[in-house]
Amino acid sequence: MKEILYIVLPCYEEEEVLHETAFQLLKKYDELIMEESINNESKILFVNDGSKDKTWEIILELHNKDKRISGISLSRNRGHQNAVLAGMLEAKKYADIVITMDVDLQDDINAINKMLQRYYEGNDIVYGVRSKREKDTFFKKFTAESFYKIMNIMGGELVFNHADYRLMSKRAIECLEKFSEVNLFLRGIVPMIGFKSDIVYYERQERFAGRSKYPLKKMISFAIEGITSLSVKPIRLISTLGLSIFLISIVMLIYSLIRYFMGKTIIGWSSLIISIWAIGGLILLALGVIGEYIGKIYLETKHRPRYIIKEIINDVERNE
Ligand code: UDP
Ligand code: MG
Repeated sequence: MKEILYIVLPCYEEEEVLHETAFQLLKKYDELIMEESINNESKILFVNDGSKDKTWEIILELHNKDKRISGISLSRNRGHQNAVLAGMLEAKKYADIVITMDVDLQDDINAINKMLQRYYEGNDIVYGVRSKREKDTFFKKFTAESFYKIMNIMGGELVFNHADYRLMSKRAIECLEKFSEVNLFLRGIVPMIGFKSDIVYYERQERFAGRSKYPLKKMISFAIEGITSLSVKPIRLISTLGLSIFLISIVMLIYSLIRYFMGKTIIGWSSLIISIWAIGGLILLALGVIGEYIGKIYLETKHRPRYIIKEIINDVERNE
């Protein structure tokens, strides 16, 4: 008896891509069922992340045509990470294996075969890693790769060039559920779960239709979220910076005292004004970083739900 696979796809205003993605994935399912890699109760789970366009209507229509397509709809837009999480936690109720991927087919669906193979070899988590980024613009490639480097310096243990294309076993998702933090940064949390894991390489494609839902502003806030929800290193860096500046100021004090006793006390206006600006800027920056963490603590203490499901379409009984 082969395992039941659910593929979870977060969708935010994706009406242009849904039909094609569903078609491609169903074809893949036929192939996988034929070669007995997965159970024929396997399904595709679309998560509508509060889209304002026809995304949900299309999901319903696809479900009516083929029962292997199911969906959940969130009550409002909660962002990619929460949509993926909502889908995984829902899928886990029926599935043995869950794969998460983007709905725009930028993640090569042919990597699924290799992921399943790694799973059957005894891995609980299989990370999809981009081998090349030829199809990405220079800007996207540069910002994304810098992101992984900065994250690692800042103390988050990320798998380099792995986004959210990954396979997880039911057991691994049950452990993920125990991380009850509201500010969930999946890429950083999943490696913390442990278990045997492996990597599968794939080539990142271009988005075949529609536009990216990750403009620069969202990418920056995603990076800040990632760093501050994973580590306290930035706060430690501030202390180090404060200490270094204090040491420098002692050196400056000794220097000016020497100048004073030598009778050469014509101190320049420019150096004074520069230090005022520099120190002022640093203080504000430090306060900002600390504020960022305090804001997180504030939000975490509220224990707000990460998402609210408005509607579920799936035609099977839960096997919880
Ligand atoms: N997405 C989502 N909620 C959002 C933004 C994006 O569910 O608020 C989904 C989107 O539909 C897609 C995936 O997240 O399936 C990745 O988004 P996108 O392809 O726009 O990002 P990019 O590949 O350009 O980084
Ligand atoms: Mg994309």
